[in-house]
Amino acid sequence: MDRRVWRDGEIVSEAMVSALAHPMQRGSLVFDVLSFHDTARGVAVFRLREHVARLLRSCGIVGLTSRWSEAELCAATLAAVGATGLRDGLIRMQAFVPTVEADLVPRDPAASIVIAAYARDDHPKKHQAKGPLRVAVPKDMRKAAPNAIPPLAKVAAAYLGPMIARRRALENGFDEIVLLDHEGKVAEAPTANVMTVIGGTLVTPPLGAILDGITRDTLLKLADEEGIISVERALSYEELVSADEAFLTATSYLVAPIASFDEHVLSAAPGPVTTKLRARFTRLIAGDDPRASEWMTPL
Ligand code: PMP
Repeated sequence: MDRRVWRDGEIVSEAMVSALAHPMQRGSLVFDVLSFHDTARGVAVFRLREHVARLLRSCGIVGLTSRWSEAELCAATLAAVGATGLRDGLIRMQAFVPTVEADLVPRDPAASIVIAAYARDDHPKKHQAKGPLRVAVPKDMRKAAPNAIPPLAKVAAAYLGPMIARRRALENGFDEIVLLDHEGKVAEAPTANVMTVIGGTLVTPPLGAILDGITRDTLLKLADEEGIISVERALSYEELVSADEAFLTATSYLVAPIASFDEHVLSAAPGPVTTKLRARFTRLIAGDDPRASEWMTPL
């Protein structure tokens, strides 16, 4: 695996960090993951500006400062992809205090930023399901309340509860989990948003307790263009498990149909609305869609 990455203004062969650095102890590292694709007009990054803006927002929420502007980080991301020579894959952007800090609040909040591009297969997901997902909804663990961990910060510490809950579900034969929020309403998967189709309408939880997934936003806009009505509203467990269709959206999953929630099997996976939206999304990231000129940034 080629480990050449962009770090703080230059392409380096390996981005090292001390095992004693602040994020190792406190989970204070913020990150974002985006994708690049081989399109007819060359290699292009999907919704680059939105991902960089989200990384900078995560920095702001956690209290890290960036020496790099949004435009500079967009250019750096394109350089990081270009340095690998890859034509399709994922990009991970990370911002963190690189120094050893004994105090909970680092004295110097200046972030070191690393941007690494890699082929999807370089980080094979051991637990990636092949077909429609069998999803558990844990009863004993919930998504952190927004006033405990801000859901709009993609910060390492936020993934601890979901990690524990997901491990238990994998041990019980499930592929993935969807967490309920602090009020018992449907929230999201550990690293993906959840969408349902109920009576032909796309229904997905509102922002509040969840991350504003960029794939989620894309699907809502594409649904609108396809004449599919969508609503963002609180969704109960009962509505979730009796939905006509359901799927996860994420940079990693793209659009992933859900077969079942707990012991409740959905009638179709993928159902017609999922199939239609997934086909449109697939064309988009291949650059073969009117929206591509706006959302696909060539190298
Ligand atoms: N929710 C959480 C908590 C996530 O970590 C992710 C992955 N970034 C998502 C949702 C999906 O977001 P996106 O579509 O931007 O990848």
